[in-house]
Amino acid sequence: RAKRAGLGWAFFNALHDSRSASDLELLSALHHAGERGELLAYFQPVVHANDYSPAGCEALVRWQRSGQLISPADFIPLAERSGQIHQLGEFMLRAATREIQRGRLRRVAVNVSPLEFDQPGYVQRVSDILNESGIDPDRLVLEITESSLLDADRSRAVLRDLRALGVQLALDDFGTGYSSLSALSSLPVQHLKIDRSFVQGVGQDGETGVRSLEVVRAIVTLGRALGLNTVAEGVETPMQAALLREVGCTYLQGFHFGRPAPLA
Ligand code: C2E
Ligand code: CA
Ligand code: CA
Ligand code: CA
Repeated sequence: RAKRAGLGWAFFNALHDSRSASDLELLSALHHAGERGELLAYFQPVVHANDYSPAGCEALVRWQRSGQLISPADFIPLAERSGQIHQLGEFMLRAATREIQRGRLRRVAVNVSPLEFDQPGYVQRVSDILNESGIDPDRLVLEITESSLLDADRSRAVLRDLRALGVQLALDDFGTGYSSLSALSSLPVQHLKIDRSFVQGVGQDGETGVRSLEVVRAIVTLGRALGLNTVAEGVETPMQAALLREVGCTYLQGFHFGRPAPLA
């Protein structure tokens, strides 16, 4: 038995080591990704729910590494641990403002990591990039997740300062964290992004479909009562789109309308 336990432990260690070794390798590659031009800004369309006309885009980062696209789910956490998330965020912000400045996009939403949001100089950096680009700040939407808002007083102040720059603010992945509701009443955000996990069930057969739609309806009602737009993300079927329009979402986003892609 001891032998087996020992073997198990060794096996676990080997797994663990190989994982951290590949993480390390990825980390060092990520370090050079920016300067090698391997980071790309992809854009996914967001449409008006009432007529499906274009409203703007969400910018989503991609890493093209020796011909392979690496998903942000695999390298954002790494970039956050290594501190490279700040450069990455700045890269995406510049990519978004550049496309607006060139008149190629009307409105772009950029994701903000909680670590960026927490950094003292963040508001100033956004302000500098806006000034350099010369765009109307109203065309930029910053998507903040709930995990950015753990320190309520500080986050309210940062959101207020960002708002004062003239940018729009969206609460991303809304409903997936437990503080959502208490935070809402006092945060200066304009958009709620209804998480894909709620949208997924909409249009399904039976109880799941009914209940999912009721959850979305409740979020939309709440948003409307607070004067907020709602964006349903992860819309994959015509049926979902029609139902989400019916319950009164303001905007829709998902593979049904377009996958994230290079702007061209
Ligand atoms: P998110 O902000 O919730 O972005 C939405 C994700 O859902 C994107 O995944 C998008 O490709 C995917 N998606 C959109 N429509 C559909 C659909 O109809 N069906 C399905 N199954 N998925 C859909 P992606 O691009 O892989 O990004 C994953 C997450 O990585 C993002 O979630 C965001 O949290 C993070 N991320 C992406 N780009 C950036 C960035 O530039 N900065 C930061 N800080 N985080 C980023
Ligand atoms: Ca987002
Ligand atoms: Ca989201
Ligand atoms: Ca999400």
